[in-house]
Amino acid sequence: MAAPYGVWLSEIMLQQTVVKTVIPYYLHFLARWPTITALAAADLDQVLHAWQGLGYYARARNLHKCAQVVAAKHGGAFPDTEAGLLALPGIGPYTAAAILAIAFGQKASPVDGNIERVVSRLYAVTDALPGAKGELRRLAQDLTPGRRAGDHAQALMDLGATVCLPRAPICSDCPLGKICLGRQQGIAASLPRRAPKVARPNRYGVAFCLFDGAGRLLLRRRPEQGLLGGMMEVPSTPWRGEAWREPEIAAFAPLDTHWRPLPGTVSHVFTHFSLELQVRTASGGRPPAPGEIWHPPANLAELALPTLIKKVLRHGLAEI
Ligand code: SF4
Repeated sequence: MAAPYGVWLSEIMLQQTVVKTVIPYYLHFLARWPTITALAAADLDQVLHAWQGLGYYARARNLHKCAQVVAAKHGGAFPDTEAGLLALPGIGPYTAAAILAIAFGQKASPVDGNIERVVSRLYAVTDALPGAKGELRRLAQDLTPGRRAGDHAQALMDLGATVCLPRAPICSDCPLGKICLGRQQGIAASLPRRAPKVARPNRYGVAFCLFDGAGRLLLRRRPEQGLLGGMMEVPSTPWRGEAWREPEIAAFAPLDTHWRPLPGTVSHVFTHFSLELQVRTASGGRPPAPGEIWHPPANLAELALPTLIKKVLRHGLAEI
């Protein structure tokens, strides 16, 4: 059985990210923080910085918080019950089941999109996702053996990643080919079915790049909760569903001065919406408010900045 720390770390990194991208980050984290207590003792900014490029930064903040809870409340050892694991920050049903099965050898069934695909094909489930999730979970549990549940879970994960591929399953190479109902019925490639997607809505905002007399840029930390929580950003208006009108914008600027609108906009796609930001620049200084810093643009690489803000800065810095 694998060590819980490594299983947990890899499963958190693999959420929304492919294996090839994760491997160097996983090895780097293990070398830099070889135990969960070492990770718990790290600064959040160091962890966010090491996470840069993996995206979905809430995972990194929860990773650090979870390490601190395991170190402080569980003596540095992960709990070995579903309830105990689900009570930890950033651990949902999939990760809890993966840790229970792979690290503790318990009969548990992690079900993610890959395993939903394999199970829907094996049993020829034609109901559409997300409605079919409950049934697929139940079937995955039925399929899980009492012994070597961790090997079983990893075998299904590997099958989904290498053989039972989304568009073109390689059924001729599949060890389950003889019992697979989806293959027998000739519908495997069309499964799992999905309900039609709702269009991703647009949101709009205005971002402000303010430079003081020493050429430093004003940055602020986003609230801990919510999208890009705890990350640094340039000040901006809220992001909303309709474009901002000129008289509304000034109230959100970090300084009452002349703001120069830059040509073009910065676009970024989040999971649930697309964002279009106008960028404005100005010169002027003032003492930083709580959560704000003045930072030299040449040293921005020191900070854990979300991709969106890097795009804004590339746009803003290119124009000054
Ligand atoms: Fe997937 Fe084909 Fe194997 Fe069925 S036989 S599990 S569809 S690869």
